[in-house]
Amino acid sequence: MFCKKCGSILLPKSGTLICSRCGAKAKDAPTKITQKSSEKKSLEIVDESTVNTLPLGDADCDRCGHKKAFFWDVQTRSADEPSTRFFKCEKCKHTWRDYDSR
Ligand SMILES: [Zn+2]
Ligand SMILES: [Zn+2]
Repeated sequence: MFCKKCGSILLPKSGTLICSRCGAKAKDAPTKITQKSSEKKSLEIVDESTVNTLPLGDADCDRCGHKKAFFWDVQTRSADEPSTRFFKCEKCKHTWRDYDSR
């Protein structure tokens, strides 16, 4: 990025780009270039064909009160951390994490 006034290089300063020579601010400063959005995806998404292969276990659905749910484990971040168990209600397809499985 270069200054529109004098053509000098713009330097990033406090969230915006400022000209190193005349101090003019760039209006369209690229503040957010990278966004981590793919990290949280697909953890709880299991398509129907996969669900049918999952084991069915005892779990209380807090939405419909059904006592059976499919379950699977997901390694959330690193191998050091314990995996998170997910449940999917057999009846209403409600999906939740098991936070109390320790
Ligand atoms: Zn300038
Ligand atoms: Zn349910």
